[in-house]
Amino acid sequence: MSKFWSSMVKRAEPYVPGEQVNQQEIVKLNTNENPYPPSPKVLEAIHGEMERNLQLYPSPTADDLRATVGQRYGLTADEVFVGNGSDEVLAFSFMAFFEPGQPIRFPEVTYSFYPVYAKLFDIPYEEVALNKDFTLQIDKFFQSEGGVILPNPNAPTSLYAELDSIEEIVKNNPHQVVIIDEAYIDFATKSAAELIQKYDNLLVVQTTSKSRSLAGLRVGFAMGNASLIDALIRIKDSFNSYTLDRLALVGAKAAFEDEAYFKGSTAKIIATRENTTTELAQLGFIVLPSQANFVFARHEKFSAELLYNELKQEGILVRYFNKPGIDNYLRMTIGTDEQMERLVVALEKIVNK
Ligand SMILES: *Cc1c(COP(=O)(O)O)cnc(C)c1O
Repeated sequence: MSKFWSSMVKRAEPYVPGEQVNQQEIVKLNTNENPYPPSPKVLEAIHGEMERNLQLYPSPTADDLRATVGQRYGLTADEVFVGNGSDEVLAFSFMAFFEPGQPIRFPEVTYSFYPVYAKLFDIPYEEVALNKDFTLQIDKFFQSEGGVILPNPNAPTSLYAELDSIEEIVKNNPHQVVIIDEAYIDFATKSAAELIQKYDNLLVVQTTSKSRSLAGLRVGFAMGNASLIDALIRIKDSFNSYTLDRLALVGAKAAFEDEAYFKGSTAKIIATRENTTTELAQLGFIVLPSQANFVFARHEKFSAELLYNELKQEGILVRYFNKPGIDNYLRMTIGTDEQMERLVVALEKIVNK
């Protein structure tokens, strides 16, 4: 702490991301990245742009990318906002829609960036308890004072709430914004984007980091009523006109234009997830029914902390949260079949020792 720090810096409690390592031999299953590379069309688009236009500023309005993303969901460009990763889009959303003095609600077990933003922007929050099986208590989110934010599927539980339940929450907060963070939706059943025409208080946030293999490019987006999008644009333009660079703009657009590639890689991950779930159950794990690109599981006999440490020794990184309620669970990203086989073999060795 220093006497020069503003009160904003003093109250900040920054998010700690999963460890990043660069060793080839490590099996990295700790930050929910996609094990497959992005579509070759993305690389082609980035190369082309690199050779032509880097000396010029990118488009401050990102209209082209916004139209392309909108098209996929039957929305217009003015119903889509794009940002530097969905983390930035979420931060802007906190500034745009939540107020100091009016408590917002999010689940007790959820994405740990939400309390970080709330503290930074001085927004009070209530953590809504989950059912014993980690599902959401839907009615506890009704009539919030300051708004609601929740991921669907939830992180790190991997559980998906049916669209009817999400709609109930949106409908029962008519005077507040409800943000649904759909970082993992492409591995699940149905996006809430189809409710946007019906509800002016719904903001759906998504990312290209997981299902489109572009965690390194940093492109996230929000979809909602044009006046919500306008609010996000006002925040962005009071901050930085060019949050997305030229490579990100063309790369993300190309990713959305290659639907076949996207369908193929998500289908592979879903199939691997189902196999991994079966294999982990055979090793004595209780695995929550995942609709994400990771599983959340605990072992009948061994503590998550022990398993995390032993796996690390074997060169396999998973995520362990030292937090009450979930400290006996491991969050394991779904990698390739080969990576998951290495995980299962290592776990077999540990539990049979
Ligand atoms: C990964 C993740 C994000 C952030 O994604 P970026 O677009 O890479 O910033 C947001 N919300 C949840 C729930 C996530 O798991």
